[in-house]
Parts: sequence; C-alpha cells; structure tokens
Amino acid sequence: MERQIIDAVNQGIVLIDQQYRIVGWNRWMEIHSGITSQDIANSNLFEKYPNLDNSTFVRSCKSVFKFGNYIFFSQKLHNYLFPFESIGAYTTRHNMMQQRCTIAPIRSDEEITNIVITVQDVTESVYLENELKMMSQSDSLTGISNRRFFDSRISEEFSRCARSHKALSLLLFDIDDFKRINDNYGHQYGDIILKEIARICATIVRECDIVARYGGEEFCIVLPDANLIGAESFAERLRRAVESVRVRYKDGGHISVTISLGIAEYTEKMRDEFELIANADTAMYEAKTKGKNCVSCFSAEAK
Ligand code: GH3
Ligand code: MG
Ligand code: MG
Repeated sequence: MERQIIDAVNQGIVLIDQQYRIVGWNRWMEIHSGITSQDIANSNLFEKYPNLDNSTFVRSCKSVFKFGNYIFFSQKLHNYLFPFESIGAYTTRHNMMQQRCTIAPIRSDEEITNIVITVQDVTESVYLENELKMMSQSDSLTGISNRRFFDSRISEEFSRCARSHKALSLLLFDIDDFKRINDNYGHQYGDIILKEIARICATIVRECDIVARYGGEEFCIVLPDANLIGAESFAERLRRAVESVRVRYKDGGHISVTISLGIAEYTEKMRDEFELIANADTAMYEAKTKGKNCVSCFSAEAK
C-alpha cells in the first residue's frame, strides 16, 4: 500500500542511501526520466545524473545525512536538479522542467540511513510569473517598456548615479502634429507609426539604455553613462532616423512623421529624478516652440 501511495503523488520521490545509490524511484520519476525503478535500482546517482555531482548538492546531502536537517532547493537559484524536458505549453520559454526540490532525512532506529529527494514541477508557475512580470512592465501596443517600468528604473538609475558620480542623461520626445496624423489617416495608422517609432528606438539604443513609452505619443530614453554632448548626438541620430521613416498608406502613398526631442543631464545639485524629468520636459517644450523636428538641451540659465 505504501508503494501505491508513493506512486500516486504528483511529485518525484527518490530515495538514496549513504553511498548515493538509488534505492527508491517512484512512478513520477519513471515517467519523466524514462527509466524504470527496476532499471535504476542500486545505480549510483552521480553516474546517472552527473550534473548533480556538484559541491552544493553533495554538501547538502552530506549535511542531511550528518545533521538530519531539511534542505530546500529553490527553482530561482537552481532552475532544476533532474534534467527533464518540460512538457505542455511551456516549452517555448523553458525547454527544461523547472523544479522545486527538497532533501530530507529518513531514520531507522534513530539513525539516518537514507535521504529522500522530492521533485516538484513548477514550470507552469514560473512561466506564468514571468508572463505577468513582462505584462506589468511593457506597453501592450508597442512592446517596449511602459511608464511603470520607466518610473522604477529612472529612480534606480538616479540613485546609482548619485552614488557613483557617473553621467546620466534623459531624453524625452513627442511626435509632432500627431493629432493631424490620426485625423488624416485614421487611428489605426497612428498606431502603426507609434509601433514603428518604438522599433527604431529599440534598434538604435545601446543595451544599457532604457526605452519606454511615457504616455500617448511621448517616449523617453534613459541614457546611463551619457553626458549632454553624447545624449545630444544620439538624439540627433534618432531624430533623423524617425524623419526618414515612410509608412505605407492604403492608397499607395506614404506617411512620414517628425519628433521634437528634449534632453537633460544629471547634476549633483538635483534632489531627485523628478527634477531630471522636469528638465527634459522643459527642453522638449522648447524644441516644440523652436519649430518642432529638432533637439533641445536643457540649460539652467535659459530656465
Ligand atoms: P504637437 O506637435 O504639439 O505635439 O501636437 P500633437 O498633435 O502631436 O499633440 P496633441 O497633444 O494635440 O495630440 C496628441 C495626439 O496623440 C492625440 C491623441 O489622440 C494621440 N494619441 C495618443 N495616444 C495614442 C495611441 O495610442 N494611438 C493613436 N493612434 N493615437 C494616440
Ligand atoms: Mg504629447
Ligand atoms: Mg505631439
């Protein structure tokens, strides 16, 4: 009866002796490993699963044998112990089954004779957790980061910069006369343009830069380690790239747009990231008043 219960649970159960021989292997383990309990009985665990022959796992087993404690292997740290392929709809993100595992002592007459490893398949929860995280951080139309993500990252970057005294610049830009684009070509084409601009930004930025949709037809780019001169040349490159885009309209013609960009640089006098954002916004407003389709740098004197 005991064997039937062990085989009925939806978890892997592996029993190991002091010589790391496998003395118990339940049905769940048979299904996912493709090895029957008869075939694996008395095999050395490390011969069958060489990836487990590592200092963390061996130290953990030794500790359970010696002190009889209970050890937990977090999926976040180890991903998995047993290299089983994942099954179901989650193989696109995780080709290996994500596992949460435990090691516990088995006593016979007060003496620890064996250890039991339990293996839980957590691929679905890990997949859904990642999906939720991605959804909460990205803009559904353009796929780039959203305002929420920008708010948290600019705050982190500002603090990092205040500690390290490294440069940091912020670029804000707004599409020129976007209302007219929507009015002339329809909202659907407006959306296509927003997506195209997001794509251009994502392709020309460095890996450390953070591109986000600030809201509506406004975007922002955090440029770590960039001073005002570097940020200005980047902004000019972006301005020209957007200007040269041609979106095909249904009548065969093309739609083109321009953007107005404002940039501001971190200074030690700033109290918080909101001051940096406000300065970039002031510069962007100035670019609009200068006639649009241009870059403007924030200057404290001009304020
Ligand atoms: P300016 O050059 O001064 O920036 O003029 P503008 O027309 O771009 O500015 P305004 O603020 O008058 O209009 C912004 C427009 O952006 C109005 C709004 O409908 C449009 N918009 C905001 N979000 C979206 C969106 O997700 N999709 C589409 N298609 N349009 C959007
Ligand atoms: Mg706007
Ligand atoms: Mg606009």
